[in-house]
Amino acid sequence: MRKNIVAGNWKMNTTLPEGIALAKAVNEALKNVDAKCDVVIGVPFTHLASVNEVIDKNKLGLGAENCADHRSGAYTGEVSAPMVASTGANYVILGHSERRQYYGETSETLKEKVKLALENNLTPIFCIGEVLEQREDGSYFDVVKAQVEEALFELSAEDFSKIILAYEPVWAIGTGKTATDDQAEEMHAFIREVIEKKYGKEVADNTSILYGGSCKPSNAKALFAKPNVDGGLIGGASLDAESFMGIVTAFE
Ligand code: PEP
Repeated sequence: MRKNIVAGNWKMNTTLPEGIALAKAVNEALKNVDAKCDVVIGVPFTHLASVNEVIDKNKLGLGAENCADHRSGAYTGEVSAPMVASTGANYVILGHSERRQYYGETSETLKEKVKLALENNLTPIFCIGEVLEQREDGSYFDVVKAQVEEALFELSAEDFSKIILAYEPVWAIGTGKTATDDQAEEMHAFIREVIEKKYGKEVADNTSILYGGSCKPSNAKALFAKPNVDGGLIGGASLDAESFMGIVTAFE
């Protein structure tokens, strides 16, 4: 059966010493709980190798927040999937709405990123989600379906099975405005149906679909109680070990 997962997305926050301290705090806290989910932290590129040294990878997965759409070469400033993997990271967040919105990421570039991540044994945490206007005009199911189909549906069933999805309604990210647990469940069930039509019931049932968008200790339990919500991708609340752990322990 599919895994429950709580993954942090630190975004462009923390200096290296701050990031190491935060990773150590999460790592220590995990020693004292019997976590009922996999736990991952997504950290800036600059932190990956150092954080990898201070965490117990049996208990805490490590991810980058992006990778390049090319393997290597003259792409100044980019960081490739092989580079990310060489730090010890085993996950990569791809297609975050901030990357789509501010850095022009499209399904075409994301398709390449996903391919390179998989080739390098990185598990993609692939983000999808509609903006407020699309929620309001009722096109949100079509938008999310297209995001999944365009970037992922050329994958074999075997490769698709390695993907974690994160439904993140853009209007809920960093705004304090969470989707209700019913809104999340409705979309997650829809996404699972879309996967089932393409890859069959077994693959669909085994795909972890996380919710992201102002998830915090106070709302995590209700969200995670929904049958199609398999955990969360956590931005702001992952920057504090205590609140992040409050979400991790929402799974009982
Ligand atoms: C995110 O950036 O993936 C996210 C969900 O952010 P926040 O939890 O801060 O809304």
